[in-house]
Amino acid sequence: MSANGKVSVATMWLSGCSGCHMSFLDLDERLLDLSKLVDIKASPIVDIKFDQMPEVDVGIVEGCVNNDEEAEHLRHLRDRCKILIALGDCAIMGNVPALRNQFRLADCLTRGYVDTESTQIGEIPSDPVLPQLLARARPLQEVVKVDVSIPGCPPDADTIWYALTELLAGRMPQWNERNLKYD
Ligand code: SF4
Repeated sequence: MSANGKVSVATMWLSGCSGCHMSFLDLDERLLDLSKLVDIKASPIVDIKFDQMPEVDVGIVEGCVNNDEEAEHLRHLRDRCKILIALGDCAIMGNVPALRNQFRLADCLTRGYVDTESTQIGEIPSDPVLPQLLARARPLQEVVKVDVSIPGCPPDADTIWYALTELLAGRMPQWNERNLKYD
């Protein structure tokens, strides 16, 4: 809890397209209502410095875990939040970034950096300063404990609003055919 009595929140995106955060911004004027109850302490939509991640009540994560740096950032947030929310299907099950899991990592890198039709002399980046891709893209729950999942690609603003307001009311969101739709 923040000193002002609000629920403190940090958001993070890993391997995703930022669409889930854009959907969060689609809350539009409801963001003003939310701001009366919630303090966003860190987020890529404001400013984020992972090495200065504060302790918060709620961590919200978009995207899955594709490399060692993302795994480290996720564990860092998990250690500093009481409730961790997986926001969107990439975070929950891998989704689009996990399409590569059906291929060998070396084949993906060769296809991306060497065999691309527009590439003349390709080279797979190998500088040790770069994050190292994991053998497979992993949903959050394979790396850390996840407390709440908000499904969808992206979850629409109404779905995010429902989940957040239920949690703020001390209830777990319940998913059913009325509040989940894919269209
Ligand atoms: Fe983008 Fe969909 Fe993944 Fe969200 S769940 S990061 S919208 S691809």
